[in-house]
Amino acid sequence: MKEHGMKTYRIAAIPGDGIGKEVVPAGQAVLQALAAAQGNFNFEFTSFDWGGDYYREHGVMMPEDGLDALRGMDAILFGSAGDPHIPDHITLWGLRLKICQGFDQYANVRPTRILPGIKSPLGRCKREDLNWVIVRENSEGEYSGVGGRVHQGHPIEVATDVCMMTRVGVERIMRFAFRLAQSRPRRLLTVVTKSNAQRHAMVMWDEIALQISSEFPDVAWDKVLVDACTDRMVNRPASLDTLVATNLHADVLSDLAAALAGSLGIAPTGNIDPERRYPSMFEPIHGSAFDIMGQGLANPVGTFWSGVMMLEHLGEVAAAQRLMRAIEAVTANPALRTRDLGGQAGTEEVTNAVCRLLAQDDAQQAIAG
Ligand code: ATP
Repeated sequence: MKEHGMKTYRIAAIPGDGIGKEVVPAGQAVLQALAAAQGNFNFEFTSFDWGGDYYREHGVMMPEDGLDALRGMDAILFGSAGDPHIPDHITLWGLRLKICQGFDQYANVRPTRILPGIKSPLGRCKREDLNWVIVRENSEGEYSGVGGRVHQGHPIEVATDVCMMTRVGVERIMRFAFRLAQSRPRRLLTVVTKSNAQRHAMVMWDEIALQISSEFPDVAWDKVLVDACTDRMVNRPASLDTLVATNLHADVLSDLAAALAGSLGIAPTGNIDPERRYPSMFEPIHGSAFDIMGQGLANPVGTFWSGVMMLEHLGEVAAAQRLMRAIEAVTANPALRTRDLGGQAGTEEVTNAVCRLLAQDDAQQAIAG
């Protein structure tokens, strides 16, 4: 079935730490099975052993010139950065943020849905009520890294983390969010703000939202304070569709979103360079999960769903849908639930099931059609 000259996607695999070392290889296996089933493209994976172990050996989480090795890739599949013996700000800034900032992946996209078979902790929430995409500003704001400490260790010590908001930075994330909202059926965007208390940067944020909205007359939009947004997510989930928020606000809201959709182990994310100057990076939102690492218990679904986002970014829409169907068939089956979802299945069992479903999908589609 395979022809010569078929499209090959070059993907960098960076498992990182903890369960990243389990879920990324699982993701690679599933993507390879998908490519074999589709028959019209290939994946060529290159693995990088960066992370905590690399730090112990070399004193850095990734090599200084590491970005050069990634630059020519079509995308990056990432696991997790975090090690019980290395401070979190070193693991985060030394690897994940180095890639996000180095490649100006300024849009962090986090879809959240309640997948079939998954129970939301929200008793009143129907499955169709919760279907959100959170767009997180991923390049500046509260996590810009600007700041410092003086008089360290003395009683007069001072520390600052300065929130940097640039007009260019806010305009581009607003435009991205409006465009994404426009591409979804409800064409609805909620701009999350805190301009009542933060009266400089967030007021500019609001002004720019209003300005960019005029470019998208077909998108309905509203504004909500971040604190009120938590209430709305819990009590009126169906009133939300696409959301855009600052780096810090979206960081918190998207973990809430993942929890409301049933499990941290399922939620995916993409760190996107919308201009495609650099490779974009796709990863599950969960961390290293030291409590279960190395035991084959990690839920790989967050990584598989990140693979769906990667395929969409690469323009392989049919393949993305095929993988999503397989994921949903697995979450719907109680025998294939991992421990975080109250089941008994392991990483390998879930991975094998998805690979099998991908191979059978043609037959199922034929029957359905
Ligand atoms: P980090 O600081 O790296 O973000 P963390 O401990 O704060 O790590 P997670 O690593 O995401 O957060 O783990 C939080 C809890 O959720 C842990 O008990 C972990 O076992 C569980 N968990 C997270 N991801 C998964 C997964 N994919 N499968 C099963 N359990 C998971």
